[in-house]
Amino acid sequence: MSSSVIDFIATEARFGAHNYAPIGVVLSRGEGVWVWDTEGNRYLDCLSAYSAVSQGHCHPKILAAMVEQAHRLTLTSRAFHNDQLALFYEEIAALTGSHKVLPMNSGAEAVESAIKSVRKWGYEVKGVPDGQAEIIVCANNFHGRTLGIVGFSTDPETHGHFGPFAPGFKIIPFGDAAALEQAITPNTVAFLVEPIQGEAGVVIPPAGYFPKVRELCTANNLMLVLDEIQTGLGRTGKLLAEQHEGIEADVTLLGKALSGGFYPVSAVLSNNDVLGTLKPGQHGSTFGGNPLACAIARAAMRVLVEEGMIENAARQGARFLEGLKDIRANTIREVRGRGLMLAVELHPEAGRARHYCEALQGKGILAKDTHEHTIRIAPPLVITSDQVDWALERFATILTQDFS
Ligand SMILES: *Cc1c(COP(=O)(O)O)cnc(C)c1O
Repeated sequence: MSSSVIDFIATEARFGAHNYAPIGVVLSRGEGVWVWDTEGNRYLDCLSAYSAVSQGHCHPKILAAMVEQAHRLTLTSRAFHNDQLALFYEEIAALTGSHKVLPMNSGAEAVESAIKSVRKWGYEVKGVPDGQAEIIVCANNFHGRTLGIVGFSTDPETHGHFGPFAPGFKIIPFGDAAALEQAITPNTVAFLVEPIQGEAGVVIPPAGYFPKVRELCTANNLMLVLDEIQTGLGRTGKLLAEQHEGIEADVTLLGKALSGGFYPVSAVLSNNDVLGTLKPGQHGSTFGGNPLACAIARAAMRVLVEEGMIENAARQGARFLEGLKDIRANTIREVRGRGLMLAVELHPEAGRARHYCEALQGKGILAKDTHEHTIRIAPPLVITSDQVDWALERFATILTQDFS
């Protein structure tokens, strides 16, 4: 490592809060599926900033839209109208088939906004006694890092010593429709769930789970809130992961790839009157729905469709999954995924996934470990067959080694 690399890392460590443990690479440039470090080494990005850079790094059309808009108008606040918000609404509603849109910034803000909205809906429409609303969530969930959200996380690292927390959440196992049925009471206003649990290690629920969930939510008049912040916008090979299940959520949360990685943009989408309960002054955000964010999100959605990225995610995801399954290595316990949301779970005896990710870095691949023994693989949706094969060769080399 050159002195400059050590400098960046040491300076971060000296001044920054130590709430991350990054892999020892300092990136300075990106294009499509590739990123380069300060020394000029090239890597295939198999994390895509947790799916935020699905359209590929520095997509030229999103960049152009951002620059063009930045020259004209960046922020008005919602105290005034701007000429991008209506177009953003129209286009995201058309793309997703939603009726109402609430623009926010980070994913966690979208989740918080959904929680507020379904509670309000519960009191004002469903008739739940004030202060009694219950929301059901799943064990091993990941919905973000705000206080409201970490309070119902089951990961001790995530919530430990951050309490006290807000009440009103009930935790059930993921993928267990009977548990949902048992947890529902007359005061339940919503079931908040990820279609595939991403941070938990790409956990795909059993077939038939979501149709049953949909049925229970409808039968009991509660809102099915799908957190598609990671799974949405093509990551799983369909626009929304719910389409694999043949269901429609009442409330859908998008973020991450909604801006192609240029800027924090998130949205709460609803296909009923949940968002209709919000009246002037009851919720807001200084930056939410700003013209720069809207122009970027419009371009990010446009290229996703125009450049066939969703179909490509399905095609290359299948190729990647098959290739990973073909790797004969006794380090591997299970390979799973849908579209370009993939994971390799290692046998606990094989050693920590972190060591494999560090070895992959040496081969020109950046991937991220999660939960000790799982390597998560989520390249930009613009990846080609040749690039998938290139990556598979390197995965095969590393996974057949022993880092225990
Ligand atoms: C990343 C993520 C969030 C939180 O988004 P932030 O922009 O980091 O606040 C919420 N839910 C899911 C499923 C995510 O993957």
